[in-house]
Amino acid sequence: MAGRIPQHFIDELIARTDIIEVIGSRVQLKRAGREYKACCPFHDEKTPSFTVSPDKQFYHCFGCGAHGTALGFVMEYDHASFVEAVEDLAARAGLEVPREGGAAAAAQPHDELYVALERASLFYRQSLSGEARARDYLSGRGLTADIIQRFGIGYAPARWDALIDRYGTTEDERQVLLRAGLVIERQPDAEHGRSPGCYDRFRDRVMFPIRDTRGRCIGFGGRVLDGSEPKYLNSPETELFHKGRELYGLHEARQATRSLQRLLVVEGYMDVVSLHQAGITFAVATLGTATTPDHLQRIFRLVAEVIFCFDGDRAGRAAAWRALENAVGEVKQGRQIRFLFLPDGQDPDSLVQAEGTEAFETRLAGAMPLSDYLIRELASRSDVASVDGRARLVELARPLVRRIPSDVYRELLVAQLATAVRMPPARLVELLQADAPPPIPLRGDAGAPRPSRPTPAMAGRGNLVRQAISLLVHYPAAGARIPAVEALDGLDRPGVPLLLELLAQLREDPVNSTAALLERWRGRPEYAPLSRLAAGECLVPDAEAAVPEIRSSLERLVTDHALDRLQVLQEKAGLEPLSSEEKAELQALLRSRAQSSRVPGAKR
Ligand SMILES: [Zn+2]
Repeated sequence: MAGRIPQHFIDELIARTDIIEVIGSRVQLKRAGREYKACCPFHDEKTPSFTVSPDKQFYHCFGCGAHGTALGFVMEYDHASFVEAVEDLAARAGLEVPREGGAAAAAQPHDELYVALERASLFYRQSLSGEARARDYLSGRGLTADIIQRFGIGYAPARWDALIDRYGTTEDERQVLLRAGLVIERQPDAEHGRSPGCYDRFRDRVMFPIRDTRGRCIGFGGRVLDGSEPKYLNSPETELFHKGRELYGLHEARQATRSLQRLLVVEGYMDVVSLHQAGITFAVATLGTATTPDHLQRIFRLVAEVIFCFDGDRAGRAAAWRALENAVGEVKQGRQIRFLFLPDGQDPDSLVQAEGTEAFETRLAGAMPLSDYLIRELASRSDVASVDGRARLVELARPLVRRIPSDVYRELLVAQLATAVRMPPARLVELLQADAPPPIPLRGDAGAPRPSRPTPAMAGRGNLVRQAISLLVHYPAAGARIPAVEALDGLDRPGVPLLLELLAQLREDPVNSTAALLERWRGRPEYAPLSRLAAGECLVPDAEAAVPEIRSSLERLVTDHALDRLQVLQEKAGLEPLSSEEKAELQALLRSRAQSSRVPGAKR
């Protein structure tokens, strides 16, 4: 999306924006030395671990790891899109946002989509009062008029053109309905009715509007009134609606409680509505998907405690395990992650209606901590009485234990696991540590295929590259003062292409802040690793000191590369005749090694 707004404008916008002002207008900041501090707006805390650096124009929370630029902050805090955040900052700086090329859909403000969805939501609510079948269905499920209103539940008439007749009379309007996911384009040969081209997506369904945290409707879930299929139909992915991120009921949960402490994650719309009606107003649901890492991050920015609730059947257990696999990466001190399994054949809706709020609260209080669930499940998959079984359990546990970011929690879990398998904790640690994973590659983000394990020499070089990149991220001004090192061109080592691109970019078009540098990479896979480096510590005090550090890293890379090349050519020479080019290269390498300890750039 960033491509629609010219990069030079983003550069200028960042240069003219003061992150202290942007964040300070939303969060109470306090000066602390060179930086500013606050209680983090993205997680619940009492002592401030959220810091903003005016030098880097970057914020970072040591508690929850949130970090980014002024643009990123506006996107996160205001739940704004990239374009909306740019427009917000531009308005503040008194700049007009220029556009490249034609006005593409992605560059258009989403306002008309919000309007279309809001209108549809109102239309469905109005249609509900005219449809006794739908009202009977909802009262049959035990919902009161109050809760129906609170969740804005409506009804989509059993017609192909109810919505389109009303709001899609012009081509432009139909395009907006399409982009909002409310209508479907008809195949050309199946002409039908008065509205050529499109028909209503939702027909004869009870409609649950899905709202973002600001309360704006971004999509719908529709449920059939009878036994037809599919039972549930969601809006498709649109510019506004991303299934893997949204939580149904989150807006309502935040409305219900001033300071939300915990969330209960269930599986269905009706579960959420029913639980809210019963007074359990911290219930939310994923939208027909498993719990994703995006969900978890959103949850932990709001609350420190989450309970996942699943049906006791096999599908429920499989979904719970997937949630656990994603959740281990979010385990940190102060966070509580628990699992609640309902009796077979029951869902939260039926259960809370059958046994009442208090009994359900008791169940919640008894939900199983993540560690207990993990150990119980692993133990059930392996026979811990036998040596083989214990080995298998260790194998199963290893990838999960390693993903736990908190040392303290990992140790606790290992201690618990050791008891479960009746093994001394030290021995278990040894087994779990066997075959340690390679360091995270710099290119690409987590989830990218990992390269084969590097040799110790390469690992050292990886640190060199990483350190040089980190210095550039912290002090982009230093980059303009590093001359090009030809010898490194085309060197295909992890991180080197990124390092060279950064250097070339900063030489040609210097920037002065970390934020400005990062914004040039937004939308590219390197953005996340670069942001993490920006959030990390830097031991070099300023750009002045960074220049010689970066130079010496580059020199060492050149030296190492030349030595590698020398070794390759020498080995090859022992096996087969070298080409005349190779001979010349080998001689040059040998000469330069003889001349000094520092090897100048080897030829490509
Ligand atoms: Zn935080």
